[in-house]
Amino acid sequence: MADLADLTIAEAGRGLRAGDFTAVDLLDAVTKRATMTEAQLHAYLTLDSGGARAAAEKADADLASGDDHGPLHGIPVALKDNMVTKGVETTASSQILAGWKPPYDGTAVARLKAAGAVITGKTNLDEFAMGSSTENSAFGPSRNPWDHTRVPGGSSGGSAATVSVGSAFGSFGSDTGGSIRQPAALCGVVGMKPTYGMVSRYGLIAFASSLDQIGPFSRTVEDSALLLDAVAGWDRMDSTSIDGDVPAFSGSLSKGVEGLRIGLVTELMGEGIDPQVKAAVTAMADKLAGAGAEVIEVGLPASEYALSAYYLIAPAEASANLARFDGVRYGHRTEHLEGTTEDMMAMSRAEGFGPEVIRRILLGTYALSAGYYDAFYGQAQRVRTLMRNDFASAYEQVDVLISPTSPTTAFPVGERAADPIAMYYSDVCTIPSNLAGDPAISVPVGLDDQRLPIGFQIMAPALGEEVMYQVAAEVERLAGFTDRAPLATSEVVHP
Ligand code: GLN
Repeated sequence: MADLADLTIAEAGRGLRAGDFTAVDLLDAVTKRATMTEAQLHAYLTLDSGGARAAAEKADADLASGDDHGPLHGIPVALKDNMVTKGVETTASSQILAGWKPPYDGTAVARLKAAGAVITGKTNLDEFAMGSSTENSAFGPSRNPWDHTRVPGGSSGGSAATVSVGSAFGSFGSDTGGSIRQPAALCGVVGMKPTYGMVSRYGLIAFASSLDQIGPFSRTVEDSALLLDAVAGWDRMDSTSIDGDVPAFSGSLSKGVEGLRIGLVTELMGEGIDPQVKAAVTAMADKLAGAGAEVIEVGLPASEYALSAYYLIAPAEASANLARFDGVRYGHRTEHLEGTTEDMMAMSRAEGFGPEVIRRILLGTYALSAGYYDAFYGQAQRVRTLMRNDFASAYEQVDVLISPTSPTTAFPVGERAADPIAMYYSDVCTIPSNLAGDPAISVPVGLDDQRLPIGFQIMAPALGEEVMYQVAAEVERLAGFTDRAPLATSEVVHP
């Protein structure tokens, strides 16, 4: 039999119920895969072996007694380390939270546990989810499973890498400007950001609250829908969560694209997009037309300014959200206690935050300061409105929009680390849907000439997850992309 770690969630679920293997076998398979790959990839910050083992044994016992919790029952799932987990260290990859063991589970975490998922551990990210390469982690970077000299993308790079390499069957991340879709694209897996408010953020360490969303990574579109099904829906603990019925997303996957109208976004196919990425997107657009969709070019003119607006709005919100890390309530406190309380707070923050986080706090505080507020923050909010208006007009013409997910495939570790603008540009295709609050998904469609994965993005209007998944399933079928990251170990070993 093939290695269990290579099964999809749907396949693993069928095998479990047929009695071919147990939840403990599934956990052993991903643990073995982690043992083989972690020295190179550093995708996990914490492996909760004890908790996972207990959960897997319980899943087996429940199933044996007829207590079936549904599609995720007994499935090993990894969580980005900015999702709080009761009793399991949660750091957001920051020294300021090193050693923090939260007293509660976030809502998405609690729902996954209730659905029978086995939480394997916590994955690496850019500190406080600020970055596009996972190089900003205070605990060292993660590596791309396809090429260990390259980044996995970010900020949810660890979550993408685990699913890509089989050290988890599925995982969750957070997406503020592209942090699920971009690493999914760079690691050759499916990554999706739900509509703003679809998944509760209670227990997600906040970065930019008007943009943050939790969403799944998986190897297939079907698995993505199964993972989303388990966490979606209203939560009284998050006042921004949408109070309404949530359909079963896994129910809309086999409808095809016949008669659908699909818009290829002109501005996201221009300068700065790698020619091989562009060619792969064009080829898929042609295939969708061949499968019966009407494919036209659609403009989103404000997307030219989306990146600039995002890099004012997100740091502004971050500067307010990160004020809570003050050395008093939790996290790192300086040893230098000779001055005032304010000195203690300033020193704790200076010691605890890494350089990118400090840069964002400075940018955000500046953008919000009296005298500059309207010129920076106000202007960025007006661009956000223009962006939303552009999407609204586009969706009068088409059902979904398509584009590359990332302008390039995975880039070498270190290449953009010293150049924030080049790094920020990684999110040029993903940020527009965050500003609009709309759902979007990245599906792998092939490899470039260096055998690095290329991601294809499908965007839909708010609450348009069903049509988004419908198109994603067809893209997956048309692409026929079944390659997996090579398991051979490389010379690069995480220090
Ligand atoms: N790369 C973007 C940033 O650095 C997006 C991060 C995210 O989505 N969390 O802000």
